[in-house]
Amino acid sequence: MDKNTSIPQDYSQDDLVELLRQYYKRLFPCKLYHRWLAYGGVSKNYFGNREFSFTLKDDVYIRYLSFADVSEFEKELIKRIPYKIDIGAVYNYKPKDHKTLQAGTFKPMEKELVFDIDMTDYDEVRTCCSGASICRKCWMFMTAALKILDAALEEDFGFKYRLWVYSGRRGIHCWVADSAARKLTQAGRSAVVEYLSVIKGSDSQVKKVYFKGSNLHPSLARANKIVKEFFCKYYLTEQNILDKEEQEKIMLKLIPDETTRQKVEKAWKDGNFSTKEKWDILENNVNAKMTLKHVLEEIMFQYVYPRLDINVSKGLNHLLKSPFCVHPKTGRVCVPIDPKQADEFDPMSVPTLSQLFQELDAAKEAADGNEADMKQKKDYMKTSLKHGIKIFQKFITDIEEKNKENRRSVNEQKAQTGDW
Ligand SMILES: [Zn+2]
Repeated sequence: MDKNTSIPQDYSQDDLVELLRQYYKRLFPCKLYHRWLAYGGVSKNYFGNREFSFTLKDDVYIRYLSFADVSEFEKELIKRIPYKIDIGAVYNYKPKDHKTLQAGTFKPMEKELVFDIDMTDYDEVRTCCSGASICRKCWMFMTAALKILDAALEEDFGFKYRLWVYSGRRGIHCWVADSAARKLTQAGRSAVVEYLSVIKGSDSQVKKVYFKGSNLHPSLARANKIVKEFFCKYYLTEQNILDKEEQEKIMLKLIPDETTRQKVEKAWKDGNFSTKEKWDILENNVNAKMTLKHVLEEIMFQYVYPRLDINVSKGLNHLLKSPFCVHPKTGRVCVPIDPKQADEFDPMSVPTLSQLFQELDAAKEAADGNEADMKQKKDYMKTSLKHGIKIFQKFITDIEEKNKENRRSVNEQKAQTGDW
């Protein structure tokens, strides 16, 4: 493993408990978090009936936790100091009471539609790192995935409220929070994920993308622009995907015509070509054969298109790691990502716990004992966490505005029909 490509660990596990305690006390945005999950008070128990799970020190995992309100949530965080917080569904009863209920009565009712994309699913196509390591070069896979999915969720499904979050190590999550998305049944979720899954088939299947018909579906045509851009800009250069013989063999197998495949293979052997030159040779040969209409697109999609963890999205009762958790291995906070600035997001510059406390100390020093100055701002706004907080705040305010609008229109309708 290349040392330069792995995320540094700048604290010992012994320090972690104390750092986390301070983090939950001073920096975790409890109030905003509660505002998000209460959804402007859509229903009385929307927060109280939400399942949380905590992973404590030594991998002690506790499911079916629930909290009456923000102060109970905050108190438990500081008391239990979870290494990881997961968010589950909103149930019909308080999850903490589930054992007292008659069998079969406790059911998940709603949850955000969630997506989980992890770099490990890209190991067959990335050349710079493997396993838990990531670098700026392979982060491009996540950037492409985010852009493609975000556009599809907005334009194909009309979902407006999408919170993108860095997973703390090597992936990204998306929380789609529109009311229609939260109300999706298991079958509805499956349908959305199936629609968005382009790379199909088992690990043993080499070619995983097939396009039929004369033109690409509008959704795929839109994705194709991003796929092509990333493929040409990063895969053919930085990732150098045709550098080694075994990489060449994988790509050759994606050409479903024996004669063309042999022509390409022979031409590649005739010179000392760069990845870009090899791709040009392949492109010319494939284009020369009418029956191979979508093959170039199919190859590029297989390399670039998002690889979704389908089971995470399908299950209504499936839990997903919460925003603003801290990854216990990297110490990095799971901060929101602004999809409009996805290109600029750099996981290596996401703050770690120790960095945040250094920033807090520096802010205190800069205020030079001016108490009023220090009290005016929330602690998290004095650190680099503020960028992620601002994205989170906007996401919450937008949803609350929408809920207010909905309530206004319901009241107006009632007023018109005299139905009070
Ligand atoms: Zn890398």
